[in-house]
Amino acid sequence: MQRVNPATGEPLSTIDEHSDDEVDAALDTAMDTFAEWRNVSTRERQQLLSNAADVLRENKQEYADVMTREMGKPIAASVSEVEKCAWVCDYYAEHAGEQLQDKVIGSEPHAQSKVTYEPLGAVLAVMPWNFPFWQVFRFAAPHLTSGNVGLLKHASNVPECALAIEDVFRKAGYPEGVFQTLLVGSAKVGDVIADDRVAAVTLTGSEAAGRSVAETAGKNLKKTVLELGGSDPFVVFDDADVATAAKVGARARTINSGQSCIAAKRFIVHEAVYDEFLSQFLTELEALTVGDPTDEETDIGPQARKGLMEDLHEQVTASVEAGAIVELGGEPMDRDGYYYPPTVLTDVPDGSPAAEEEIFGPVASVFKVADEAEAIRVANDTNLGLGASVWTADLARGERVGHRIEAGCVFVNELVKSDPRLPFGGIKDSGYGRELAREGMLEFVNQKTMWIQDADGDAELSLSE
Ligand code: NAP
Repeated sequence: MQRVNPATGEPLSTIDEHSDDEVDAALDTAMDTFAEWRNVSTRERQQLLSNAADVLRENKQEYADVMTREMGKPIAASVSEVEKCAWVCDYYAEHAGEQLQDKVIGSEPHAQSKVTYEPLGAVLAVMPWNFPFWQVFRFAAPHLTSGNVGLLKHASNVPECALAIEDVFRKAGYPEGVFQTLLVGSAKVGDVIADDRVAAVTLTGSEAAGRSVAETAGKNLKKTVLELGGSDPFVVFDDADVATAAKVGARARTINSGQSCIAAKRFIVHEAVYDEFLSQFLTELEALTVGDPTDEETDIGPQARKGLMEDLHEQVTASVEAGAIVELGGEPMDRDGYYYPPTVLTDVPDGSPAAEEEIFGPVASVFKVADEAEAIRVANDTNLGLGASVWTADLARGERVGHRIEAGCVFVNELVKSDPRLPFGGIKDSGYGRELAREGMLEFVNQKTMWIQDADGDAELSLSE
């Protein structure tokens, strides 16, 4: 796997892909391990997860450096990402036991009926490069703790991250085979999904990858969770705290150098505060530091790959050709590496990429609306439905609008963020299923109904009802 440092454009050392035989051996190991791991107590698995949190914290600088080197995340954000991974481990280390406890349901006098939560087997996780540790840990923390074994197929530009994550679980004391990395390209994913030794698959990535994985999984009747793209609206009403909205909005658009599924992408602003918001939003964005991701002071690093930056610029260029106005940025930066500056587009025409497509970089589109109804219409005018942020001093209005927005989550007077305690996922073409919280935990367990009839009771009567 050929890796390139996006901050410099210089190649990094190559890492060998796994051969078909190596993948086959990993699937055998997964099966052998699952036979044992499913019988390990939840309490013991929780302890191992707690160890993983310790390993992450003890080695956070080392893991952060790997991320920054491979995909260009500013180093301070890489360190925070490792800490957030430790948090999701802590969360499930504390709560998995209660989340997986049998649910007793009253039925008949001489019968006990309940739901038990049992692991499925080997779960394949196809993951993206943008949060190369977090996306993997939010999958692994719940699903290894429920007794599944994990197979990671990470994005091809972050194999060192994938190996480092495998190392976390090894250092934490997990039995070999509970978590394995498959160093393969996307062309091999279909065969792995179709393999009888794989029970289920989760993908975080683009719509195109989601459709492909869902098709193969559907043909093979494998359970899937899909976390796909987003084009999140950030709605600012006339009664909002405009200064805070502008400040948080700038952060929400540029988080991870703009490469986040839940970044605010379309800013929908009431006409009464449009000029004020735009001017403060531009000021906030201009104040951000774009540069070397190894520098602690950097806010925005390079885009992760050259091709991604070129695609981003094509979307901007096509939107401008269609009539959008560039208020800020709009051209790749004249330096080595794949740097794109904060960019703001206004007067974005319907049908242009900035209005219709996910923009995966630090480019904001700002729309002017006349009232609440128009704001909701523009917010929902997308095939995607991941998150949304609504800004208003009237909390009842915030909640009312929140119910009308087609998205998997809505935050009022706050940016959209993922949190281990809250379920996370999308609707429409942003995918289906949930990660995190108890809802996420239950995606990859067999929710088994158990009916246990007391031999002295009236079995026939109970069962015939
Ligand atoms: P991507 O190209 O879809 O890649 C994601 C993963 O899928 C990589 O491991 C990739 O492998 C694999 N992949 C690509 N095409 C595939 C196919 N046809 N079949 C099977 N696997 C395939 O996405 P990306 O550009 O890396 O990531 C950005 C996208 O992810 C954006 O759309 C973003 O919104 C979305 N995302 C969503 C969430 C969420 O939680 N909803 C979070 C983060 C990112 P290779 O690298 O080997 O191609």
